Amino acid sequence: MSRRPANRKQIKKEIAWSVISSVIFAFVGTITYFLWKNNLTAIYLDPSHIGYWYLPASLMIMMLIHETYYYWLHRAMHIPQIYKRAHKVHHQSLSPSPWTAFSFHPWESILEAVIVPLILIFLPVNVYVLLFYLIFMTFSSVINHLDIEIYPEFFRKSWIGKLCIDATHHHYHHKKFITNYGLHFTFWDRWMGTESKKV
Ligand SMILES: [Zn+2]
Ligand SMILES: [Zn+2]
Repeated sequence: MSRRPANRKQIKKEIAWSVISSVIFAFVGTITYFLWKNNLTAIYLDPSHIGYWYLPASLMIMMLIHETYYYWLHRAMHIPQIYKRAHKVHHQSLSPSPWTAFSFHPWESILEAVIVPLILIFLPVNVYVLLFYLIFMTFSSVINHLDIEIYPEFFRKSWIGKLCIDATHHHYHHKKFITNYGLHFTFWDRWMGTESKKV
């Protein structure tokens, strides 16, 4: 884990970038709402519409599509020309802090957010499942940038814990730059040989 606490100047910058990111995310949220209200998405209201079994299944499908998009987007953002324009801001934090979680250049915020409405145009998702996922994503991003581990050791060592990204995993992305690109899960990094071993 990091021995260099984030300094005040870095935190101030991260807060400013996070405010801009929040505005962009809210804007994409508004567009999604507009699409939903005009019947241009597959979002549905009644949880029993497809079946209750589909609620966790749709959450998993949405997460796997999002994971795949994010992993490859993240790798593309490490190509030097793209990195300079879109991703450098996020990596100004060599020691991540909770403020780093949403410290993105506007290009990165747009590229990250746009996948959610795109998924919702094709994949039927209950509105409550969607809200749950948005809240889950917010918390998990903060947790992964805490720079301290909050998950219990027995969970981290279990097979499911090894599949999930935690603060240690993402810490290595900020430290080494060329490993650990994943969002929620470790499988793409494993398959592509880009995983730093968890400690
Ligand atoms: Zn990165
Ligand atoms: Zn990060």
